[in-house]
Amino acid sequence: MHETMIAQSLLAAISEEAAKQNAKPINAKISCGVLNAINDEILCFAFEAIAKDTPCEGMKLQIEHKAMQGQCKKCNQSFDIEFSHPRCLKCGSEDFELLPDAPLLLEEIEFSTGHLTVGTD
Ligand SMILES: [Zn+2]
Repeated sequence: MHETMIAQSLLAAISEEAAKQNAKPINAKISCGVLNAINDEILCFAFEAIAKDTPCEGMKLQIEHKAMQGQCKKCNQSFDIEFSHPRCLKCGSEDFELLPDAPLLLEEIEFSTGHLTVGTD
């Protein structure tokens, strides 16, 4: 179960930050590439299940799926690929290279104190 492993590492990272801040986390923002194939519902469900009886119990996960990035072979511009219309946003060229999919990233944790923390990995 891909999502369970992700949920476990998220829980570990958030718990560590919560201990540092000495505050209860209420919300976390996560981002990942579209090819990462994470099922939001399964991930939230897995997280809820393992967060039970921890300081993370009841917190919400928001998952943002980032667009694929391309890099133009003509002008070197990197850009978000629109699947319906894949072309360089700067010069309009359709000759581009696909860049690696965005990794899963813990972007932000919101604590009950109102403090926001941005994850470093
Ligand atoms: Zn271009």
